[in-house]
Amino acid sequence: MNEDFLPYNLPDIGDDEIGAVTEVLRSGWLAPGPRVRAFEAEFAAWTGAKHAVALDSATAGMHLALVALGIGPGDEVITTPTTFAATVNVIVHTGATPVLADIGIDDFCIDAAAVEGALTPRTKALMPVHHGGSACRMPELLALARPRGIRVVEDAAHALGTAIGARAIGTFGDATVFSFYPTKNVTSGRGGMLTTDDDELAERCRLLALHGMSNDAWDRYTARGSWAYQVLAPGYNYAMSDFQAALGHAQFARIGAFQDARRRLAERYNARFASVPEVIAPSERGGTTHAWHLYVLRLRPGSLDIGRDAVISKLKERGIGTSVHFIPIHHHPYYREAYGWAPGDFPVADAAFEGMLSLPLYTRMSESDVDRVADAVEGIVREHRI
Ligand SMILES: *Cc1c(COP(=O)(O)O)cnc(C)c1O
Repeated sequence: MNEDFLPYNLPDIGDDEIGAVTEVLRSGWLAPGPRVRAFEAEFAAWTGAKHAVALDSATAGMHLALVALGIGPGDEVITTPTTFAATVNVIVHTGATPVLADIGIDDFCIDAAAVEGALTPRTKALMPVHHGGSACRMPELLALARPRGIRVVEDAAHALGTAIGARAIGTFGDATVFSFYPTKNVTSGRGGMLTTDDDELAERCRLLALHGMSNDAWDRYTARGSWAYQVLAPGYNYAMSDFQAALGHAQFARIGAFQDARRRLAERYNARFASVPEVIAPSERGGTTHAWHLYVLRLRPGSLDIGRDAVISKLKERGIGTSVHFIPIHHHPYYREAYGWAPGDFPVADAAFEGMLSLPLYTRMSESDVDRVADAVEGIVREHRI
């Protein structure tokens, strides 16, 4: 094909971002500092959370949250098989045991009944993942967790802009962690943000994110600060730098326009696929706001004479990039060996994986790009419908 390749994801970096980053470079202050504090304050205000702690990645944030909540060896942490490796790896890093609970087929998010079935006296935390930007059923999950003293740490890597009613994701669990990796709705190059309403947890995360050094150690190189510091815990090097915060702040200023663009493109896809019964378009559950981080299409089982992998190859031949979110956790060699899981163990996650693909969705796409992808999908379906 001679049409340009349309990738499944591209960041949207404008002159403001370039200007903001250049300004930090000229300022001589790149380490964690005032720009990080400002980014945290605006992020907390926007989500409605009491505290926001800026970090080097969402992975760092999820690890910190678990450590700060005291999760460790002997504890079980329940999460979903349909997630990125990081969600499970951070559980492993604390010494706790990851436990998987199957998903719902409508939103690819962890299913409350499956969570209930996975509870044991050792269950200490639950890590729901707002898949693709679709809101998990937080009221149901919190109703299971709260009475049992189970802590809730949300993987909101996809959920910047997701809401339940008027309440943004970031204000439900004990801690919620967002990602600013370059593929996410807002990027800081790489980075993450942890939100919480818990003063003590926020304080603990700040301490642990900067080597366990006594607070405001970040300004020990300024005229205002002091060279002296105390290490109060064996912490990590997980703090966001001012360099990242400058980019993150400039990107975050565009969040409204970003989310509007994503919604417009997703709705255009939905309108196109409404008349294609062989595919199942993603939907926004009533009473929630979808962040449209991903546009996950599902092939209706038994309706095509080819599988998902072949559909992906055919789209690639037509110059269209796609991805799959995600290869389920229980399919990977490490976890299979360590925890005895195997494909087939979580039937809904397995069924979802078999037919899912993420179509291109990013703010720099045009409506004609959406049409081009939809035309290609329809063409493949027409050729291969049973
Ligand atoms: C991107 C992603 C992460 C990791 O985010 P980082 O900021 O790169 O650490 C975690 N969970 C999910 C579901 C993701 O998509």
